[in-house]
Amino acid sequence: MINRKSREEIKLMRHAGGVVALVHQAMKKAVVPGISTLELDEIAAKVIKENKCTPTFLGYNGFPGCICTSINDEVVHGIPSKDRILKEGDIISIDAGATYRGLVGDSAWTYAVGSISKECEDLLKITELALFNGIAQMKPGNVLDDISGAVEDTALGIASNIPDELKGKKYGIVRQYGGHGVGRNMHEDPFLFNYRVKNNTKIKPGYVIAIEPMINLGVDDVVVSNADNWCVSTVDNKPSAHFEHTVTATDDGPLILTALE
Ligand code: MG
Ligand code: MG
Repeated sequence: MINRKSREEIKLMRHAGGVVALVHQAMKKAVVPGISTLELDEIAAKVIKENKCTPTFLGYNGFPGCICTSINDEVVHGIPSKDRILKEGDIISIDAGATYRGLVGDSAWTYAVGSISKECEDLLKITELALFNGIAQMKPGNVLDDISGAVEDTALGIASNIPDELKGKKYGIVRQYGGHGVGRNMHEDPFLFNYRVKNNTKIKPGYVIAIEPMINLGVDDVVVSNADNWCVSTVDNKPSAHFEHTVTATDDGPLILTALE
C-alpha cells in the first residue's frame, strides 16, 4: 500500500531532506584526491547530527556507515573505510539519509575526483539527466511507469532533451535495484523500476518517492560483494553512476524534498 503523506509529514521530510542536501554540499567540497571514504563518513555524520537528525543508514540492516561510498565500478552500498583513498580520475557515488522526528530524506550524487575521463563525464551527465527527467514525471495523474520510462529513455539515448553528441548512446540500466517510497521508513511501497514494467499505478498528491537511476557505462548486470555482503559492483567492472532525490507529488507538480531549503 502506498501512503500519502500529510502536510505536516511533508514539512518534516523537507527538513530531513534539507539536511541531506547540506551533507551533499559538504561532500562536494570534501571529495578530493587523498581523502578516505571513512573521513567522508565522519564529515557527513557531523552535519547530520549538528542539524538534529540521525543518520538513517547507520545500523539499517546492520549497515556500519552513515553514508554509502561507492567508487568507480561500485554501484551502491559501498562501506566507508579508512583504507579506501580517493584518487584523481575516480568517480564516487555518495548516498546519504537523514531522519528528522521519524521522517526520512534520501539522496545520492556521483562526484568526480579531480578531473575524470570524458566517458565518465558523459555517464554522470546522462545519469543526472535521467534523474531530472524522472522527477519531471512525478505529478498527479501520471503513472509510475511514466517515471520509469523517462529514466529508461534517457539511459537508452532516446529522450528528447539528450545533448546532441550523446543522442543514441546506450548505457546499462541497473535492474536489481531501484527507487522506492520513503517516509517513516526508508523503504516503503512502491518499488520504482528504472525501466518500463507496465506499472499503471496512478501518482497521487502526497506520494513521496526516492527516484534513483543507477546507470552503467557497460552492461546492466551487477553483483554483491562476497567479501562484505554489501557492496554492489558492475559485473564488467565498468563505472556506474547514481543520482537520487526524494520527491513528492503536489497539485502544482513535483517538489524535491532533498534540495537546500
Ligand atoms: Mg539513497
Ligand atoms: Mg533510496
